[in-house]
Amino acid sequence: MTATRSRDEILQILSRVCDPEIPVLTVLDLGIIRDVSVENDSSVIVTITPTYSGCPAMRLIETEIRAVLVEAGIPDPVIRTILHPAWTTDWMTPAGREKLERFGIAPPQPRDQHPPCPRCHSRNTRELSAFGSTACKALWQCQDCKEPFDYFKCH
Ligand SMILES: [Zn+2]
Repeated sequence: MTATRSRDEILQILSRVCDPEIPVLTVLDLGIIRDVSVENDSSVIVTITPTYSGCPAMRLIETEIRAVLVEAGIPDPVIRTILHPAWTTDWMTPAGREKLERFGIAPPQPRDQHPPCPRCHSRNTRELSAFGSTACKALWQCQDCKEPFDYFKCH
């Protein structure tokens, strides 16, 4: 006998799943959970849109989503992936952006703006390398406090 979970309960369970590359961000912060539905027979369907199609972390996130749901007593959750429309950094929540900055990673900015330094908030920053510690990030440096930092690239 499986108890029917509400959509909110499912979202609560999903908030335990974090980005393996940026562990402060949950899948909800990233905005990759597009839809959660609970069917009449209590089965659960979660629709996700991957951040980067080439990001190896996505496969891991899907496995993790399944694992937390099964652990919460949902025996056979369906994880659907939709690729269109493609995920954009605009879907990241304001809470997610704040967490990123506190973690020392500059959150995505409008394209014509330099990311602010996560340490001193100066916009006097420059790109050192288009490739940071992972494909999703670039390496920047603050010209004022000299702090090098990761910038979560906009796309
Ligand atoms: Zn700085």
